[in-house]
Amino acid sequence: MSRVVVLGAGISGHTAAAFLRRWLPARDTVTVVSPSPDYNWIPSNIWVGVGLMGREQVTFPLAPVYERHGIEFVQAYARELHPEGDLASPRPYVSVEPVPGNPGAALEKVPYDFLVNATGPRLRFDRTDGLGPEGNSHSVCTVDDALSTSAAFDEAVARMRRGERQRFVVGVGHGTCTCEGAAFEYIVNLEFELRARKVRDKADIVWITNEYELGDFGMGGMHLRRSGYVVPSHLFTASLFAERGIRWITRAHVEKVAPGVLAYETLDGAEREEPFDFAMLLPPFSGVGLKSYDREGADITERLFLPNDFMRVDADYTAKGYEDWSADDWPRTYQSPAYPNLFAAGIAFAPPHGISRPHTSPKGTLIAPAPPRTGMPSAEIGKAVARSIVGMVKGSSVPTAEASMAEMGAACVASAGANPFTGTAVSMTVYPIVPDFARFPDYGRDVDKTFGEIGLAGHWIKILLHHLFLYKARMRPGWPLIPE
Ligand SMILES: Cc1cc2nc3c(=O)[nH]c(=O)nc-3n(C[C@H](O)[C@H](O)[C@H](O)COP(=O)(O)OP(=O)(O)OC[C@H]3O[C@@H](n4cnc5c(N)ncnc54)[C@H](O)[C@@H]3O)c2cc1C
Repeated sequence: MSRVVVLGAGISGHTAAAFLRRWLPARDTVTVVSPSPDYNWIPSNIWVGVGLMGREQVTFPLAPVYERHGIEFVQAYARELHPEGDLASPRPYVSVEPVPGNPGAALEKVPYDFLVNATGPRLRFDRTDGLGPEGNSHSVCTVDDALSTSAAFDEAVARMRRGERQRFVVGVGHGTCTCEGAAFEYIVNLEFELRARKVRDKADIVWITNEYELGDFGMGGMHLRRSGYVVPSHLFTASLFAERGIRWITRAHVEKVAPGVLAYETLDGAEREEPFDFAMLLPPFSGVGLKSYDREGADITERLFLPNDFMRVDADYTAKGYEDWSADDWPRTYQSPAYPNLFAAGIAFAPPHGISRPHTSPKGTLIAPAPPRTGMPSAEIGKAVARSIVGMVKGSSVPTAEASMAEMGAACVASAGANPFTGTAVSMTVYPIVPDFARFPDYGRDVDKTFGEIGLAGHWIKILLHHLFLYKARMRPGWPLIPE
């Protein structure tokens, strides 16, 4: 009998746990450790942040779902990994802090035979002075933040209805952020909603980003097949913004967000300010900061994690120049090189390097998007890790499944206005996510499988995906048939 423990009930961890339970015999146990009682379909937080959805439409309680399917649920934060156990027993375990807990109480032990770290990102608002909901800008990364963003948006609209002009700044709040795609989706939804609420004429909307060119999305941009032509994504995105009257600032590192004004530095060395009435700026990410100890209690965190707290897996982490990076550097199995029964899935694994070309300002500030960590690969990786663990429980000595982001495509449908008749969405596919210039010397990607379109059909697909993915996450009948 084996005990598999999954840390995190987000897109990656929940997918891993669901497939582990489906594929493992009943005698093996599957345990999920996660702090929130609810599942949150994060992509739809965009719609929460403009007031089109409420908490109940993007979340559901995990406990009844796990109970129905025989998955043990421990509502807690994982804090420490003990992959060799301790002096009392060599059995590996995770130390967890229960939620709600007793302040100062000892951590509890959750033993495991196999462990999946799918703890996602820590939102590093602290990296920029004044950034975030506790400072002077909004966010849509969690449902609570998206709800307060929506209330602030309503207030801005009310002011516009009273005749005031409002300045909206949307984008990323640090030079090393990822998730530009999510901020992009928010700005085009915000613009659409201002039109729907008939106050667009009173709004100035500005996009601020660390991307060298628009449409980089942390993937070094892409070349999209459109109507028989190959179009660079910066043109595609610029035309989308131009049509909507959105001004943009690229190559920017936000240094400080003060009430009503943010200060930023750009790659050419300029230091500027941008005033705002409403700012939605995503934070940079790190890992959640799990510590790790060997059997004697010595700190081995550096062996398991990079300094950014993301977990080392089977990637090539050798420091190399941008030109020397290769698609083969990317991980395949997500197994820890230190402990074969330890895996990281989704955002929790450490990418070997960025995909976008790194640039630094004259002051030495790195201004370059980190690699995208989107939902589809996170789920695919969770599923592959589950398959490998099942294989190892059944006797394989090595992981039996692979999910390299350099061999995986991704589809992304970014809503650009939620209305069943006048709404629209940008639908993009890329293959592969990590460019491979050895296989595709022209663009690094297969242009026949990398395309972008904008239209009402995309909006219907986005709505359908929202319902399908929540149905799947609820593990309702037939859920495994819905793709990741
Ligand atoms: C606003 C927004 C919109 C997005 N839109 C899209 C989109 O349209 N399409 C797309 O493909 N991707 C989108 N993404 C990206 C997508 O949400 C992520 O790729 C995905 O959520 C990553 O999955 P994950 O499981 O690695 O992390 P998460 O989904 O963040 O899950 C992490 C889990 O770990 C838990 N956790 C945290 N700390 C601990 C701890 N110490 N111990 C145990 N558990 C812990 C968390 O509570 C959570 O349950 C969007 C992201 C954002 C922020």
